[in-house]
Amino acid sequence: MRAQLEPVCGICGGPIDLSLPAGHKESWTLDHIIPLAQGGDPESPYNVRPAHMRCNSARGAGSRAVRATRGSRAW
Ligand SMILES: [Zn+2]
Repeated sequence: MRAQLEPVCGICGGPIDLSLPAGHKESWTLDHIIPLAQGGDPESPYNVRPAHMRCNSARGAGSRAVRATRGSRAW
């Protein structure tokens, strides 16, 4: 079992495959929980979490408080 070594996307909650090459849309990136523009600490380990690149960029694009409510199926 290596489930504990597998990071989970902080945005969609899905597992992240670390073997994917950088630049792949499902490769892992660091997501800043508090955006740097809002005073988040870029070096604090408590302000970063792993995320899929596509999730991170989707979130970063329109950074309003998007709440995952029922009925939102963005697939
Ligand atoms: Zn994700």
